[in-house]
Amino acid sequence: MLKIKIAGNIIIDHNNTQLSIDPIKKTYNFETNFITHAHKDHIGPRKNDFSTYFTTAPTLEIANSIFDDNKSGKFLEFNKKYKIDDLEYKIINSGHVLGSYSLVLEYNGTKITITSDINNIDTTTTKAATVEDTDILIIESTYGSLMDVFPDRKNEYTKFLKWLMLNRLNGKLPIVACYPLGKTQELVKLICDNTNFEIGLTNDAYKICDIYSKYGVNLKNYLTVNRNLNELDLLILPPQKIKKTLVDAIATASKKSIAFASTTGASFRFGEHFKISDHCDVNGLLDYIVNSNAKQVYTYHGKDIEFANIVNKKLGCYSKALKEIKTFEII
Ligand SMILES: [Zn+2]
Repeated sequence: MLKIKIAGNIIIDHNNTQLSIDPIKKTYNFETNFITHAHKDHIGPRKNDFSTYFTTAPTLEIANSIFDDNKSGKFLEFNKKYKIDDLEYKIINSGHVLGSYSLVLEYNGTKITITSDINNIDTTTTKAATVEDTDILIIESTYGSLMDVFPDRKNEYTKFLKWLMLNRLNGKLPIVACYPLGKTQELVKLICDNTNFEIGLTNDAYKICDIYSKYGVNLKNYLTVNRNLNELDLLILPPQKIKKTLVDAIATASKKSIAFASTTGASFRFGEHFKISDHCDVNGLLDYIVNSNAKQVYTYHGKDIEFANIVNKKLGCYSKALKEIKTFEII
């Protein structure tokens, strides 16, 4: 028997053993936790026992670096088939951040793909998500509204680089709001491949850059911000750290005026905004579904109900938000 349900996170009930995908809840007691990537809302709290984590080597390393810990877990390799009794599974690249995966289950002749967070466009640091031919697709819907259309990524990269260079030319200190895992490394790669700018990062982002470099994404010219600000050409900081008092303090310490920009996922009422995301936009999600040949589509996260309706109308296949049905069974 295989049941899939959502209760905070997705849970697979396999012959009455519960397997969890990304145990975000504080109270968890699953023996198997598929950890799809190391964003904080997917790796669970610090206290969790990583020995129950089934994940990739880079994800575990990033999780340990975030928690300043050294726990071990069980490693999965991409595209290799594994088995738990009569349930087969494998992981495929989800294109989201270093080490991230989608989970493909095969049970009784039915294939089920659970995407977790996906991006189906190549970035400076990640390859587009691999799409598996599947019967049932459970797909994230963070940007699942018809309004969620991102511009061409290469054009957005060019716009960002122009903004950066122009502000440096004018003697300003650019500050860019980016989460420490994923987009920070994408922008560091973009900047270090196109300029000689020295990039100031928080300790967390700095350590994650080292892990990216270790796994073959060659990042350069990044430093921690704990130094003379005049040695740095720009700062990349987590959105939650950006407060007016901090920006004022940086302006005073550096004796420079500040140019500010944010990226998708963090909106501010001021500065420039670049639509650079490590998720699919609505068209990317629809493309993913078409390429997967799924006959049933369940949506979760973000705009799940709205996106399920869009899938029904545009693609004509059965689609429902997972939270609306709560559970379904594969015979
Ligand atoms: Zn994520």
